[in-house]
Amino acid sequence: MSDERVTSAALPSSAPHAAGAAPHSHDRASGPPRQAMLVEPGRLELREFIPPHPGPGAILLEIRCALSCGTDLKAYRRGHPMWKLPAPFGHEFAGVAAEVGAGVAQFREGDELMAAPTAPCGACFYCDRGQENLCAQAMELMVMGGYADYILIPPHVVARNTFRKPAALPFEEAALLEPLACVVHAQALARAEKSETVLIVGAGPFGLLQMLALRAAGVREVVVAGRGASRLGWAGELGADRVIDVTQTDAAGAVASLNGGHGPDLVIECTGQVDGWQEAFARVRRGGRVVFFGGCAVGTAISVDTRRMHYDNLTLLAPFHFRPRDVREAYELLCGGGLGAGRIINARRRLSELADVFALLERSAVLKCAVIP
Ligand SMILES: [Zn+2]
Ligand SMILES: [Zn+2]
Repeated sequence: MSDERVTSAALPSSAPHAAGAAPHSHDRASGPPRQAMLVEPGRLELREFIPPHPGPGAILLEIRCALSCGTDLKAYRRGHPMWKLPAPFGHEFAGVAAEVGAGVAQFREGDELMAAPTAPCGACFYCDRGQENLCAQAMELMVMGGYADYILIPPHVVARNTFRKPAALPFEEAALLEPLACVVHAQALARAEKSETVLIVGAGPFGLLQMLALRAAGVREVVVAGRGASRLGWAGELGADRVIDVTQTDAAGAVASLNGGHGPDLVIECTGQVDGWQEAFARVRRGGRVVFFGGCAVGTAISVDTRRMHYDNLTLLAPFHFRPRDVREAYELLCGGGLGAGRIINARRRLSELADVFALLERSAVLKCAVIP
């Protein structure tokens, strides 16, 4: 199916519907609503499902676009420690409110919405300390099932991390709310100065989203180190000042020569691999900061040279997930349009082609793929 058909999909109605009855159709023609399930690692199934009626405080969202994510690819390959399979799949999405539960005052049927897939409780030990990213509820009640025709947004997410999408913002760009919130959180910790040289390790979608955010913040020099000709090419096209191929023998020397030979002030690790973490620690300048952004496989470790850590006065930071204030800031960045974040979405497929999407991701043939019902 061509991307032409994807962009010319008919506009849906927002009429209320009986359970199991489709209020409109896209890709699925006249069939029942569908939901993708990760049955076991490497096996996806598109199943029929009955969209639930939203209870008090909840919203049933008709999905217009979901985005592929590196987290999804990791789970597709090896399962996920937090999910019991089979499980609905996909957590970056935007759509239209198809049915609004009792007591939701701020949104109504037909509203175009964007939401993060999690929200904190607001009342626990961590929430009290402004570390809502560590709230147990955020992970335990994560909304999954973005690769579907409909998704239920539960009351805690409606109340804290759901926003009205501006009409001018494309649905696929609105679906970047979650990954951008992660990036905003990382950058809040990193506190890059405009005068600094920043090295990003990893040229995947998160590395390039970090790069775009630093560019938009006016940081002087943003360098991306990674592998793969197409990814490095995209990094350059999207605005990296310099791109370093880590498979080349002179890569370490190229990084060391940055910043007048002092090395980068800030290194943001975006590979989620032990090698990437070790590389980030090794390459930062004396007195610099390292942000370990990509989560590694459970049970892995890096070694930290205590002499280097102490006498080189390093600061190591490890942001996880995001807080409501990061989601709000990500929302405002997307609405402002100055980031050009939509440029990292470089493929579009139908929901019925989800298996192809993961084949593309496996080959690193796309950065982010829009999945359109
Ligand atoms: Zn994601
Ligand atoms: Zn909490």
